[in-house]
Amino acid sequence: MTSTTERVLVTGGAGFIGSHLCERLLAAGKEVLCVDNYFTGARSNIAHLLDNPKFEAVRHDITFPLYVEVDEIYNLACPASPVHYQFDPVQTTKTSVHGAINMLGLAKRVKATILQASTSEVYGDPFVHPQREDYWGNVNPIGPRACYDEGKRCAETLFFDYNRQHKVPIKVARIFNTYGPRMNPNDGRVVSNFIVQALKGDPITIYGDGSQTRSFCYVDDLVEGLHRLMETDGTVTGPINLGNPGEFTILELAETVIRMTGSRSRVERHPLPQDDPRQRKPDITKAHAYLKWMPHVPLEEGLERTIAYFAKTYF
Ligand code: NAD
Ligand code: UDP
Repeated sequence: MTSTTERVLVTGGAGFIGSHLCERLLAAGKEVLCVDNYFTGARSNIAHLLDNPKFEAVRHDITFPLYVEVDEIYNLACPASPVHYQFDPVQTTKTSVHGAINMLGLAKRVKATILQASTSEVYGDPFVHPQREDYWGNVNPIGPRACYDEGKRCAETLFFDYNRQHKVPIKVARIFNTYGPRMNPNDGRVVSNFIVQALKGDPITIYGDGSQTRSFCYVDDLVEGLHRLMETDGTVTGPINLGNPGEFTILELAETVIRMTGSRSRVERHPLPQDDPRQRKPDITKAHAYLKWMPHVPLEEGLERTIAYFAKTYF
């Protein structure tokens, strides 16, 4: 008997965003194949899905070829925080580049549509603000962030070349800073760091003077945007920015987390990491036009849910 249910591969499906995406796809009635090497992801992120007959998890490193039959591929596999992507930078570049080649080759063979989880880091330390998709970016190709930034830029190149040369249907999402439950508490990202530090009463570590800005998108909003992008017709390839245009300084974020947790933590200054972007904010005009998408969860509401998750899971 043949099944008409769409079978969807999510690489990096046991990670923070990937696990939420798997849930969203199952809720939409799809069969989900989660592939992950558990470098930064965790089985606990998908444990609640394992009993679902439409869900399957396989341990696999996407720098090696994968032979499966699927209709759609979301390529999320890649460490995403500076601490983790700089731990083994060669493997980070391999994951972005060899991983993209393997997943694009798979998409070509099985005629699947493939979506790439690209990043606002392709804009580097931007001279244009807010960042629009037609900005080519300002990336240091030999700095400590390059393994991630240039790896993701090369992956975008591969996606568009497979599309032009082999007619593989592609979608490229440029994801801006995303936060929410199931962030890895040890990955050094600013939202998880500040929440864990505040709940412990430890000093809140501000890198630099805290005047650098980021725009924070709640994970449910982001996953909805990824799903809508995949559902677009073949004329929509992206790249499309997905992020929340609300822009906050890192100091403002620290003060908000301290207030919301009722913490007695104080702020502690640390050196700014090399090539840390000064300003970041997405222009989401394209996402609104092509996907009718915009984020709905304000920062404080998203932080409330994230703080509750960390308090329940780790304290
Ligand atoms: P994450 O680290 O929680 O998830 C990444 C997942 O990929 C992990 O489960 C990890 O084990 C897996 N992985 C890493 N290398 C792999 C490999 N070689 N083979 C198979 N699996 C591998 O990070 P996340 O925040 O969920 O990010 C998911 C994707 O979204 C990444 O591609 C990231 O670059 C992109 N992204 C995230 C953000 C963000 O703010 N969270 C921003 C921009 C882009
Ligand atoms: N940051 C900080 N303290 C921390 C962790 C991060 O001040 O404990 C800063 C970091 O220097 C950057 C911003 O917060 O300016 C966002 O960092 P994150 O690693 O979350 O994301 P990215 O730099 O990749 O946007």
